[in-house]
Amino acid sequence: MSGVEHMSTLKLSGEPLDEAQAGVINLAMRITDLHTDLREMLVAGTVVRRDETMARRTTLRVGGPADLYVEPTSEADLATTLQFARVHSVPVFFLGRGSNLLIRDGGIRGLVICLCHPSFSRIEVEGEWVRCGAGAYLRQIANAARDGGLTGFEFLEGIPGSLGGALRMNAGAMGGWMFDRVERLRYMDRVGEVLEITGEEAGARYRGCPLLVKHIALGAVLKGTPAAREVISERMTASNQKRWSSQPKQPSAGCTFKNPAQDTPAGRLIDELGLKGTRVGDAMVSDVHANFFVNLGQATATDVLRLLELVRQRVHEARGIELEPEVEIIGEDLNPS
Ligand SMILES: Cc1cc2nc3c(=O)[nH]c(=O)nc-3n(C[C@H](O)[C@H](O)[C@H](O)COP(=O)(O)OP(=O)(O)OC[C@H]3O[C@@H](n4cnc5c(N)ncnc54)[C@H](O)[C@@H]3O)c2cc1C
Repeated sequence: MSGVEHMSTLKLSGEPLDEAQAGVINLAMRITDLHTDLREMLVAGTVVRRDETMARRTTLRVGGPADLYVEPTSEADLATTLQFARVHSVPVFFLGRGSNLLIRDGGIRGLVICLCHPSFSRIEVEGEWVRCGAGAYLRQIANAARDGGLTGFEFLEGIPGSLGGALRMNAGAMGGWMFDRVERLRYMDRVGEVLEITGEEAGARYRGCPLLVKHIALGAVLKGTPAAREVISERMTASNQKRWSSQPKQPSAGCTFKNPAQDTPAGRLIDELGLKGTRVGDAMVSDVHANFFVNLGQATATDVLRLLELVRQRVHEARGIELEPEVEIIGEDLNPS
């Protein structure tokens, strides 16, 4: 139920409001005001919505509404949005293509910013350099590099995220890592100032870049190595085949757990315990790859979270290993107690 629907239900009941109900009304009214004010400050083409359903924006297809949702059209627009959030103490979450997220059914309180406008998704190949915006799809970057005769980006082809998400996560596959290729990184801080640093200065590590927890990536200059296009194409086809023969086709958020420090990868641990095919509602441990949890159609975030907990417990009981989620779990429960 959205804040506005909730508010009208409460008003219609005719009973005096308790503190919690009054709080819901105040919040809903505040969001309406914030939405109106922010809308007025941004240029006409900017997407500014309230109660935007996140399930539509994640590859797992679960997640409740974000109070406010903005797709800035330019860096100036983004700076205005960040400054507005700061002045009004509104929490901000940066959304890429939603391929590493498990958003709870109650949605996100605050503002979600997504750099999916074309002005943030440009890709230019020049010599050995690929200059790209944070909103660019990784597949498009891999394709552009191949067309420009540059190798080193083949591993990005099958990762269904954006450059911004891949920088934040230091995404990796087939032995390659995002930050192996980053020469320069542009980002904006929370006061709207644009900064530029080298890839090394960003301090990325396994599955993360701490700098980008707080700041928003705007784009990067990536470095490739010249190679024949046919060779690159062959490598991309091979990595694609390998991926799709070992990965489910149903909606998922990729690998659910990080590989533990011990030798056995998370997927094998789960498989060895016979947990492939285990279901909670429409959330299921994939029978193709045990570290992928898939949505069979109507799964809720609560189903996925229960499945995650069940698998975690079984692995702990059987092997004494604490699995840590790789998927980022955010947002609120539907009925927070
Ligand atoms: C089928 C499938 C296969 C996958 N395979 C792989 C794989 O092989 N290797 C791998 O590493 N991952 C894999 N993933 C996970 C996921 O695709 C990557 O982590 C990807 O980099 C996330 O990018 P995104 O744009 O979807 O980010 P999101 O999921 O939207 O966000 C992820 C994080 O990045 C942050 N973020 C997004 N944009 C920005 C920005 N502009 N600035 C700062 N922070 C930002 C978000 O706040 C969040 O913390 C897979 C996922 C799926 C569904």
